[in-house]
Amino acid sequence: MDSRQVRRAAAAVTTAAGLVVAAAAVPSTAGAAEGKGAGARNVILLIGDGMGDFEMTAARYYQYGAQGRLAMDAFPERSTVSTSSVLPDGGPDYVPESASTATAFSTGVKTVDGRIGTDRQDRDAVSMIDLAERAGMLTGNVATSEITDATPAAQMAHVASRGCQGPANMGDCPQDAKPAGAGSIAEQSIDHRVDVLLGGGWARYDQPTSAGPTVAQQAASAGYSVVRTRQELQGATLPVLGLFAAGNLPTELAGPQAKPGGVAATCTPNPAFGQTPTLEELTARAVSLLERPRGGGRAKGQPGFFLQVEGASIDKQDHAANPCAQVGETLAFDRAVKVALDYARTAGNTTVIVSADHSHTSQIIPSEDIDSPGARATLTTREGQPLQLNYGTSPTTGSQDHTGSTVPYLAFGPGTAGVPALLDQTDLFGIVTRSLGLR
Ligand code: MG
Ligand code: ZN
Repeated sequence: MDSRQVRRAAAAVTTAAGLVVAAAAVPSTAGAAEGKGAGARNVILLIGDGMGDFEMTAARYYQYGAQGRLAMDAFPERSTVSTSSVLPDGGPDYVPESASTATAFSTGVKTVDGRIGTDRQDRDAVSMIDLAERAGMLTGNVATSEITDATPAAQMAHVASRGCQGPANMGDCPQDAKPAGAGSIAEQSIDHRVDVLLGGGWARYDQPTSAGPTVAQQAASAGYSVVRTRQELQGATLPVLGLFAAGNLPTELAGPQAKPGGVAATCTPNPAFGQTPTLEELTARAVSLLERPRGGGRAKGQPGFFLQVEGASIDKQDHAANPCAQVGETLAFDRAVKVALDYARTAGNTTVIVSADHSHTSQIIPSEDIDSPGARATLTTREGQPLQLNYGTSPTTGSQDHTGSTVPYLAFGPGTAGVPALLDQTDLFGIVTRSLGLR
């Protein structure tokens, strides 16, 4: 019995014992007309962490000008997504974080901030990747953060706390630690046998497990191509664990932090980025691996793939009040979106959805505004105009805060049209799984 069979057998037992499967309120006509499933063979879900309308607009103005367009602006479907999480007593929490929100869209279950793939009673919730794997589909998870960070984690792990990323980090999740529990997020990603894992975070996978070997060594023993450079990735075969930094991947652009009183910010390539593969490259490689499994062409009727791609550091640079890095990561994410959309338009039968987990702090304010108490920075856009960003949710010495606004839903492909003007984040689970005929 290979690890996948073990995992499936365990999952089936868990289901019988009361695993949480969301009874998703699938909106309106999405996926309904075509009977069982809306006919998508593949789904690519792209999440901009902390990417609200301000982050998208700042990137659009900076790079393409007032009349310019991002790749994200080409989607035929648009709606709006509310992102509240829940408090431990079940009441609403209007400003969530990335673990509860990733759990919400991945599983359709609202949970408490900090939880990964578990509801507020600590029961496992079934994710898009869980269902795709059970249907025999190939699966992938790509991020510019550690691949064990909250947004990718909620698709492939079930733990009580987002901090439990490696076997040495289980202090907040003693019940999940191996051998009694399912293990850390890193261990679960391998036991889950997600076919493509690409991102940062090798320090988590280099931690020894309770059995002795490191998680990366266990992955290699389980058949993974374990790669750490752009060159090695080119030769990798499924399944692949590609880790390109000890922690989060470096940002593509660099520049000064915003500060009270304002600063003029000139954005430059980040020297630390070096030979790091871009999110665009990682997305293209993931798609090419998932659409053509090793051994040549796909048999007729062979199931397709589910791929999640995350632009993780839009959020992280919003927290840091760093407008150049924030805008650069939004543009990097947009290039990955273009890869997905181009693929879907060419290959057909592929649904692409872009959303965000929560909104964030940056605001576009008048360039002549020098009265804002926030940290400010003024960029000069490519069309030569001042673009002032304001970060006003925290003193500059601390991390800026998330905000509670709705975030975009942008979509193309089977099962994505005709949704209401306002969705809840949990509806994404229904839209994706319905479009693939998984429920
Ligand atoms: Mg994230
Ligand atoms: Zn954040």
